[in-house]
Amino acid sequence: MLTLYNTLTRKKESFAPLHPPLVGLYLCGPTVYNDAHLGNARGPIVFDVLTRYLRYRGFQVRYVRNITDVGHLVGDGDEGEDKLARAARAQKLEPMQVAQHYTVRYRQAMAALGCLPPDIEPQASGHITEQIALIEEIIQRGLAYEVNGSVYFDVPKYNAEGGEYGRLSGRVVEELLANTRAELAGQAEKRAPTDFALWKSAAPEHLMRWPSPWGEGFPGWHLECSAMSRKYLGAEFDIHGGGLDLMFPHHECEIAQNEASATPGTGARFWLHNNMLTVNGQKMSKSLGNFITLNEFFQGSSDALSQAYSPMTLRFFFLQAQYRSPIDLSDDALQAARKGYRKLMNGLRLLDSEKLKVKSEEAEIDEQKLVANSQQLNALAAKPFEFLDDDLNTPRALAALFDLLKRFNTLAATPAALAEVSPEAVAAAAATYRTVVVDILGLRDEPRASAEELLTLALGFYQEAKLEKAYDKVDQIRSALKTQGIVIKDTKTGVEWAYSEE
Ligand code: ZN
Repeated sequence: MLTLYNTLTRKKESFAPLHPPLVGLYLCGPTVYNDAHLGNARGPIVFDVLTRYLRYRGFQVRYVRNITDVGHLVGDGDEGEDKLARAARAQKLEPMQVAQHYTVRYRQAMAALGCLPPDIEPQASGHITEQIALIEEIIQRGLAYEVNGSVYFDVPKYNAEGGEYGRLSGRVVEELLANTRAELAGQAEKRAPTDFALWKSAAPEHLMRWPSPWGEGFPGWHLECSAMSRKYLGAEFDIHGGGLDLMFPHHECEIAQNEASATPGTGARFWLHNNMLTVNGQKMSKSLGNFITLNEFFQGSSDALSQAYSPMTLRFFFLQAQYRSPIDLSDDALQAARKGYRKLMNGLRLLDSEKLKVKSEEAEIDEQKLVANSQQLNALAAKPFEFLDDDLNTPRALAALFDLLKRFNTLAATPAALAEVSPEAVAAAAATYRTVVVDILGLRDEPRASAEELLTLALGFYQEAKLEKAYDKVDQIRSALKTQGIVIKDTKTGVEWAYSEE
């Protein structure tokens, strides 16, 4: 039975979907005004593993991950310029051009990291109608008010009428009110500093604005996730995910909007939050010089790290920590992750070989021993699932896979031991290993040898063989390369290769 830690109830709960076998999952996606950084990759990887695992368990998952292309303001609050509009102005581009550019790059990075694409990837700018409709529902309930063409959510009134703003994040509204300086710029329109924008009026020079019942403007950042999750997953659905940094105010506001709508409810029953990433023990930030985008990471062009690491190394690195724990990235940690990842891949290669196949019938096999050994192997193979069931404990699942791999290696090295396990048990354990590594954890074999370098190596052997007049070997190398579509050409100056044109 899968258990997941629900931030809303602050405990691990058994997961059962509302409408089995369907599972509705919503994850807050990127704001597409710049390249995603390393920390941005953790959530998508965590929720990719969760989606894969739920699918493995037979659920039919509808995975929605949005694209924020409007409404997310500099400073993450209700003031300042729109992040996209600012990027567009700086680069003299259309905002949608900026959004398209970074959306494509984001998808490429996610694909490289082995994250399956979401089933639905709605854009905020494509759901203005739904967002306006939701605001109207909230106004209808008397929980939002209009000032100068902007609409704000009335937090004190919402709580006075039984709402629980602060429930998700554990914040107390009275304290929030006391701690916020009312004179903060732009707060003037709000009745209380805790109130947040559902709609912001926009001046004619604003690059992104739409007509609304309150005049031209654009939606508040928190609104899109409520509107789009309701549209594609229903007013009540199963899982809402996101980074811990989104818990407040973003998710807190989402829940308030859902509760204040015409179909009250928290939206998702399970609210899951992945913890953050630090780099060399520090929070990632541009000023500390340890801010690493995914592309810089893959190319090895960041000063914070000594070299490039592959996407699968990064994926393995994140899986080494339980998603609710913080994780620290460093060269040492990445080198250890690379080692672990390669070890797992060597396990896949072992399973592809003949080494785990019993070759001959041993004359005398102790039946009892056979049963006991087979059961022991089955038990080892069941372990990764036990840990995945426990709030997606990927580090322990990985440790269990290494235990299983150790057993495979022993069996492969000692035919006598292999003969004492039933071939069915070996095949089942091998299938489990492959399923967990590839299908659930999403770790795939990355080509790490360069074809160019291997070819240079082969040409070196060819020249050596020629010098030694070992013509059998010369022919062998020629024909081996020919099968790969490569022809060797002997020239006056040495050896060259070309693509076979046959
Ligand atoms: Zn969101």
